[in-house]
Amino acid sequence: MTLSAIFMTFCLNTDLACADIGVEYAKLDRGIKGQALLYRSGRMKIQISEKHKTQSERKLELTMLHEVAHLIVYATKGPKEAAHGYAFKSACEELALKSGLNRNSCAYLSKH
Ligand SMILES: [Zn+2]
Repeated sequence: MTLSAIFMTFCLNTDLACADIGVEYAKLDRGIKGQALLYRSGRMKIQISEKHKTQSERKLELTMLHEVAHLIVYATKGPKEAAHGYAFKSACEELALKSGLNRNSCAYLSKH
């Protein structure tokens, strides 16, 4: 699947404006698998480490799940909410279940 197709499999289970969210591969710092960005304009973007191009699609899915969960928290709680606190964990677990994954899928990445 393409990056945007994998993004959509998660995003379509949310209330986010999926078509307005950019998703791209990027050269990220070592150890960073992905990042979710929120601009002052309200626009959102997900960047996925180029390293995922050579790894399994499963790992990419888990990273995407994590980053989409960040966008849900941005949209519902705002940018000041703790990055990986309760709101994030519950958003991630709910999204995992809605997307046909186990809630433990959220444990794959504890940061980023
Ligand atoms: Zn994170």
